[in-house]
Amino acid sequence: MELVEVREGLAKILVPKAERIYDAPVFYNPVMALNRDISVLAVGVLKPGTVLDALSATGIRGIRYALETPAKEVWLNDISGEAFNLILENVRLNLGIDGERIGENRVSFEGEKRIVANLDDANRLMAEKFRYFDFLDLDPFGSPVEFLDTALRSVRRRGVLALTATDTGVLCGAYRNACRRKYLAEPIRGELCHEAGLRILIGTVVRYAAKYDLGIDVLLAYYRDHYFRAFLRLKSGTRKADESLSNLGYLWQDESGKFTYEQAFLPERPKAYGPLWLGPLKEQGFVDDMLSLAGTHSLAHKKTLPFLETISGELDVPFHYDTHALARRNNLQVGKLADIIETLRGKGYSATRTHFSPTAMKTDAPFEEVLKALRSLR
Ligand code: SAM
Repeated sequence: MELVEVREGLAKILVPKAERIYDAPVFYNPVMALNRDISVLAVGVLKPGTVLDALSATGIRGIRYALETPAKEVWLNDISGEAFNLILENVRLNLGIDGERIGENRVSFEGEKRIVANLDDANRLMAEKFRYFDFLDLDPFGSPVEFLDTALRSVRRRGVLALTATDTGVLCGAYRNACRRKYLAEPIRGELCHEAGLRILIGTVVRYAAKYDLGIDVLLAYYRDHYFRAFLRLKSGTRKADESLSNLGYLWQDESGKFTYEQAFLPERPKAYGPLWLGPLKEQGFVDDMLSLAGTHSLAHKKTLPFLETISGELDVPFHYDTHALARRNNLQVGKLADIIETLRGKGYSATRTHFSPTAMKTDAPFEEVLKALRSLR
């Protein structure tokens, strides 16, 4: 395969030359630099000892963790032989040392930090390394569900599980049966689909984790560039698992765009969407620590910082109002988002922009007040 060198963060990486990213024998997507920037900041704040990049491709993510965070031991794994060979080359290129073969499919690089490159099915590696990793990253093609069970067993009991899901069509209701099969949940279509999809993903992890007597805290969860990303802190114990389950519930929406949601183990009314997570989507302190770290860290993507700032300023309540969709549904003119936010704030409500959509806001105002604000600005 023909290779070219790219730079991202502090890493230099050899990646296959290809016309389109999905044609390359080993996957590398430069757009995901923002995802990796945010992950590097998260690992920087968390300072884990052991890290697994379970689906590594070129190795870029794990290599950035090794170079840009205090992590002491980083494992990079892929099922593809071509990816594994490229990971070996890229680790050598960045660390300047040779690795030592410590198993048929495993090479260890012992420098200031320990990096282990591994060629295997991620599920097999995670089953072998039981409760070993402080931070475990799942970055698959499509859905992470096929890796969830072993990942939850491979993370330490108070560790952090990071996951990406790129099957937004499934979680956002374009393929309803696939969502039922993979996530055992009813998805919603329309303007709430991205936030609901993210919450279905988190809700699924909550249900998987509960059977191991694990609860979760959401450190940060977001939607961007057609993928979902979540950083979840595991909490050990039946009480914690019960607490997390109590944050599951359902969403309803009528034709006008008015939505309601309710925490419940089973839906109490028909036409419910979910089950989905109704708890917070961030820990403010965690996001603010990431932001201060971003101030001293050279990021690879120019949108990482403004994106994190939007998330930091966002009101963390379930769901949002997309002003364009609301106007369409209720035959109203679309007013300026900033004016609608100001009108609601003037009435004593909280209202902020949201990263879910540039035309949407989050607010604690009731639906009727939001409509009134929209009407007053015609
Ligand atoms: N994390 C990478 C990054 O940030 O650039 C991208 C990973 S890519 C989306 C997914 C990778 O998972 C591919 O390289 C693929 O070979 C690998 N993969 C697919 N199924 C796997 C499995 N069961 N076990 C391990 N790796 C697998």
